[in-house]
Amino acid sequence: MQTKTDSNEIQSYLIDASNMRGGQASRVAFPENAEEVAATLAQASNNKTPVTVSGAGTGIVGGRVPFGGIVLATDRLNRIKEIRKEGKGGRAVAQAGVVLAEFQREVEARGLLYPPDPTERSCYLGGTVATNASGARTFKYGPTRNYVERLRIALATGDVIGIGRGEIYADEKGKIVIPLQGGRKIEAQLPSYKMPRTRKHASGYYVTEGMDAIDLFIGSEGTLGVITEVEMRLLPKPEGVFGGVVFFGSEDKLLSFVAEAREVSLNTRSLNLTDEVDARALEYFDQHSLQFMREKFSMIPQSACGAIFFEQETTAENEDALLQKWNSMIEKHEALADDSWFAVNEHDRAQMHEFRHALPVLVNEWLARHGQRKVSTDMAVPDEEFARMLAFYKETLDASRLQFVIFGHIGDNHLHVNIMPRDDEEATEAREIYGKFIARAVELGGTISAEHGIGKLKRDYLLELYGHEYIQQMAELKRAFDPACILGRGNIFGEELL
Ligand SMILES: Cc1cc2nc3c(=O)[nH]c(=O)nc-3n(C[C@H](O)[C@H](O)[C@H](O)COP(=O)(O)OP(=O)(O)OC[C@H]3O[C@@H](n4cnc5c(N)ncnc54)[C@H](O)[C@@H]3O)c2cc1C
Repeated sequence: MQTKTDSNEIQSYLIDASNMRGGQASRVAFPENAEEVAATLAQASNNKTPVTVSGAGTGIVGGRVPFGGIVLATDRLNRIKEIRKEGKGGRAVAQAGVVLAEFQREVEARGLLYPPDPTERSCYLGGTVATNASGARTFKYGPTRNYVERLRIALATGDVIGIGRGEIYADEKGKIVIPLQGGRKIEAQLPSYKMPRTRKHASGYYVTEGMDAIDLFIGSEGTLGVITEVEMRLLPKPEGVFGGVVFFGSEDKLLSFVAEAREVSLNTRSLNLTDEVDARALEYFDQHSLQFMREKFSMIPQSACGAIFFEQETTAENEDALLQKWNSMIEKHEALADDSWFAVNEHDRAQMHEFRHALPVLVNEWLARHGQRKVSTDMAVPDEEFARMLAFYKETLDASRLQFVIFGHIGDNHLHVNIMPRDDEEATEAREIYGKFIARAVELGGTISAEHGIGKLKRDYLLELYGHEYIQQMAELKRAFDPACILGRGNIFGEELL
């Protein structure tokens, strides 16, 4: 197994996309199979050496930034083992270090679909499972969790376990028992908190009554074990997709359009209807986002105060009727229909995706020019509280002098507020406002992180969501799988609890 110690060579493993500073490690190990991963972990447990698991490093909460010990890189676990059709959908088995974009290309070439689509698709499959990643299509398809059927996991003890969906469940007292080789077993007690009622949630361990044990590892951010291999459920690739960027001159009309599109889509799914409006993405851009993007997209109408990007899957038979239904909704809610854009072919859709992806890039360029870091939210709230949360974001920010954009997954009541400080004083004000948003989201029954996870940067907010006792219960749970407490130290909860 190759190991690197040269500081120049390991530099890129000491950071992630959060720009968290101060990462350090004595070496980076590059195991090539689960057994090498397990042996590395067993040795580290013996020596009490902290181990930080590294995927592609696209995480934005400092999860893979090490503070001492070694880094275990999954780069060489990069083989797609199998993609096969099964009924209308399929199954795939791939190692943790396979790049998501490459995997999706291979899957789609076989007429299949793997729905999880975080905006940054250079991430690894293992990283997406460890963070339960989601993306624009999550509105229709749910997060990564919904597609994971089996995991191979190397534990800190040096054991390798295979855990399939439907095989091990928590008992009525919230205990999970995982059998190991040689008649040994791990007994873990689940924390007793109730997770928020939001459609998306990536804050701390996933815990529900009678839960499937596989779900505990999905979203555990490198703290319970190293995922070495993933078996995934695949869906049939949709025949066609059309999309639109619809501009509105009134915020109220925009919100009523979203409310109807969301309700009809959820109804279509719950009744298993076909040939009906069923958005797979519903994404929002506020007035400030549009202002920012005008620099690159001059066709954004001046009178627009917000926009919605949507996508709908189609067949040759229902495409015209569905287009008609979306047009009726657009007219009913008085969108700026003549200025809106629609894409029915691959070329136009690619341009629309460029539009969607341009905003974070432009924001990052702006911040680089001002030598500042953005303050970026990831909260979601239940349906009935969304309008209140959005109003709170706007009122609070409008009363400040801060520059900001609000955009994201409005279908799931999950928007990203990016505050862009121009100097250190504004950075302090932005962080104070962030704290107010967290408090408000918690008060409204929301989650403090809907998709990016907790990592090392959002631990204090997780404490605010659950309180000390439940965080302590999470640390207890971790100890059952990792008695020497070597894995992902500092992720989800502070090291003082270990
Ligand atoms: C521009 C941009 C856009 C993004 N958009 C989205 C988005 O739309 N939705 C979304 O959900 N996220 C998004 N992200 C965040 C990020 O892409 C995801 O969290 C991604 O899933 C991380 O994967 P990675 O391989 O880069 O993991 P890393 O950053 O390397 O690691 C993330 C965490 O997982 C752990 N980990 C990694 N691999 C393993 C493994 N094999 N076993 C156990 N633990 C492991 C690490 O220790 C760390 O705690 C975005 C990031 C960027 C930079």
